[in-house]
Amino acid sequence: MTTNNRSFVTFPFTGVALDPIHVGTGGTRLGRVDNTIVRDPVTRIPKIPGSSIAGVMRAHTAMSKGKYPNCAGLGQPERDGAGGHCGNADCPVCTVFGFAKGIGSSGGFAGLAAFSDMHVLLFPVASQLGPQWITCPIALRQTGIAEFSELGDLPEQQVVYRKADGAAAQPSLNLGWLLLPVKTDWQPLSEIAQKIEALGIPGYIISRLGVVSDKLFTHIVNSNLEVRTSVAIDPATGAAEEGALFTYEALPRGTVLFWEVTCRNPKHFKINQGDVKAVDSPEKVRDVVTDANSYLEHLGIGGMGSRGMGRLRVLATKELADVDKPGKEVS
Ligand SMILES: [Zn+2]
Repeated sequence: MTTNNRSFVTFPFTGVALDPIHVGTGGTRLGRVDNTIVRDPVTRIPKIPGSSIAGVMRAHTAMSKGKYPNCAGLGQPERDGAGGHCGNADCPVCTVFGFAKGIGSSGGFAGLAAFSDMHVLLFPVASQLGPQWITCPIALRQTGIAEFSELGDLPEQQVVYRKADGAAAQPSLNLGWLLLPVKTDWQPLSEIAQKIEALGIPGYIISRLGVVSDKLFTHIVNSNLEVRTSVAIDPATGAAEEGALFTYEALPRGTVLFWEVTCRNPKHFKINQGDVKAVDSPEKVRDVVTDANSYLEHLGIGGMGSRGMGRLRVLATKELADVDKPGKEVS
């Protein structure tokens, strides 16, 4: 089926944190007291803003396409007019991520790919049975998977629901400091396990899946973030600055994040009154973005990269494995 007349296609992505990930609420330069990470204002669950992802993916795409540094970053030219986004219709970076400066009489371009925030889908917690991956109805609904859209509150709020296998025979499970009764009688759980497997979630995570209420999830996540203490170094003396001890929090290694990239159809857009030449379908827009995924795995996202933080492995969803199958369209 051709997607030529679809105006946009939304592709789901999941990734697993290979390092703790810190995306700060302020600047992320070392030496600055910058201890909190961005949270959803309603759920209080940490997230990674879509704007951060777009910026990182843009920089990584510019590197992979030999367009770095001019087409990366904000695109502001030097004072003499040199540099900045090229804004060419055949530039994969400028067409997919947009450009700031006008060429001739035209203005900027918003770009063909739009990134949602990265939300915590599955959060790893230590228990007496080893690591468990915990989720909740809100986190599952955020995937946009149709079967989850009507997922309501859990039958019981102060329990953890698990699949009825050997390990689940334990009458209770500690998630960090929290001891919860285990229940195995919640029917939707097997469908949830099946659906998230299609998102590329590995079996070792699915076999340790637990579902708790939205309220408990917020508690579990926020009391099991990784918190590190560090000290700012005075660059002039190479010694610790007075009063410069600071702590910062991060999503722990093993956190599974979910996000979506909405790809507009290049055929519906003009750049400088001409056709977009770099890409010709929503799938090609996605391919430009996914070409940079290996950079996320090696260079990472967020701050403190020099301290072994931020690397994220993007998992292969079923939709991605089958290139001819378009993602869902929302119109
Ligand atoms: Zn460019």
